[in-house]
Amino acid sequence: MTIATKKQYESLTEQRAILYAEGLNFFSEDAKLACREIGDGNLNYVFHITDSKSGKGIIIKQALPYAKVVGESWPLTLKRAAIEANALKKHGEFAAGLVPKVYATDEELAITVMEDLSHLTIVRKGLIQLESYPKLASDIGVYLAKTLFHTSDFALHPFEKKRLVSEFSNPELCKITEDLIFTDPFFDHETNDFEPSIRANVEAIWSNESLKLEVAKLKKSFLTEAEALLHGDLHTGSIFASETETKVIDPEFAFYGPIGFDIGLFLANLIVQTISRDGEQQLVILHHIEQTWEVFSSEFSELWKNKAIESYKDTKGFEEYVLDKIFTDALGFAGCELIRRTIGLAHVNDLDGIADDEKRILTKKQALQIGEALILKRKEIKSIKAVVWLLEELY
Ligand code: ADP
Ligand code: MG
Ligand code: MG
Ligand code: MG
Repeated sequence: MTIATKKQYESLTEQRAILYAEGLNFFSEDAKLACREIGDGNLNYVFHITDSKSGKGIIIKQALPYAKVVGESWPLTLKRAAIEANALKKHGEFAAGLVPKVYATDEELAITVMEDLSHLTIVRKGLIQLESYPKLASDIGVYLAKTLFHTSDFALHPFEKKRLVSEFSNPELCKITEDLIFTDPFFDHETNDFEPSIRANVEAIWSNESLKLEVAKLKKSFLTEAEALLHGDLHTGSIFASETETKVIDPEFAFYGPIGFDIGLFLANLIVQTISRDGEQQLVILHHIEQTWEVFSSEFSELWKNKAIESYKDTKGFEEYVLDKIFTDALGFAGCELIRRTIGLAHVNDLDGIADDEKRILTKKQALQIGEALILKRKEIKSIKAVVWLLEELY
């Protein structure tokens, strides 16, 4: 008989987070630690521990065993903490410097101890305040190309690829995406949340059968196409930046899915930002949109040329086919993200924060209109320039 010595899960308090940090061998013996819980979500605690003597800090992120959604709690697997830590490490192998360093993990307590990025700003907040991030689009383009290419069948032996697919099986978190991005917004579902003044536009979406058919195809792609290890939640609230640095955080939704998904989510979040702006300020974000795709596709091609192992890699037309599919998928996923951020459960401040009622309603209607156009016309839109033209037509 063995005596069970397994630690039991319990959620930390600020005081206990300090004790936990003291056990990590990160701070020196005479450190003077302080802790603040700075999480903003309903799923996880984020403890910021600082040492006033050395000025050093760490982040302890702990998953909670339930999620608060629609005023109710439902159980949500703690396994997502390990998924997040392992995705940060795996993506960090290929996109070093673009994700936080992981210092320690603790599966029982669902904890990830990571690099303190408090000197940076969450990009969604920064963009809303018209901060400029000259490296954002190219850094994210590189991050996307490196993480997605290197975890795909184009770079990995099929045994290793399939091992990773099973390591990153993340059904409960995927289900949230399946419901909140691909299903609920397109039906009169109780999780939806929209302003009464756009009801007619929302009902037009619910009764648009050709749109719903295209969304069903996109959902099937999300469900079935294990192309690469995705971040899974790459909106601008999952990115820290300054003028000189970019770091992608929070990959708890990581799993093997279609490459276009991460790209589409990021582009959609740039699109909501551009339509919320006026005049010259819009051009900055339109440029980010173009640059993200241009950098992604040229980096991806470079990796294809130099690193691909896939036996069809030199087959004429195949690389072009792969990139075209990624682009088309990305536009469709971007469309779903635009619609769900406007009428679904989880909103964004880029839209909700527009104080002027008339301007906010108009902008939300534009988000729906662009979302619909991207989904329906994704196969006809042949270049990122054409996406920019589509956006410019609205102004
Ligand atoms: P959730 O999964 O609950 O959304 P996030 O990982 O997005 O959690 O973190 C929530 C917030 O905590 C972030 O918006 C940021 O303000 C803060 N945070 C998270 N990770 C770090 C970090 N490595 N350094 C500094 N602050 C962080
Ligand atoms: Mg959050
Ligand atoms: Mg987050
Ligand atoms: Mg998260």
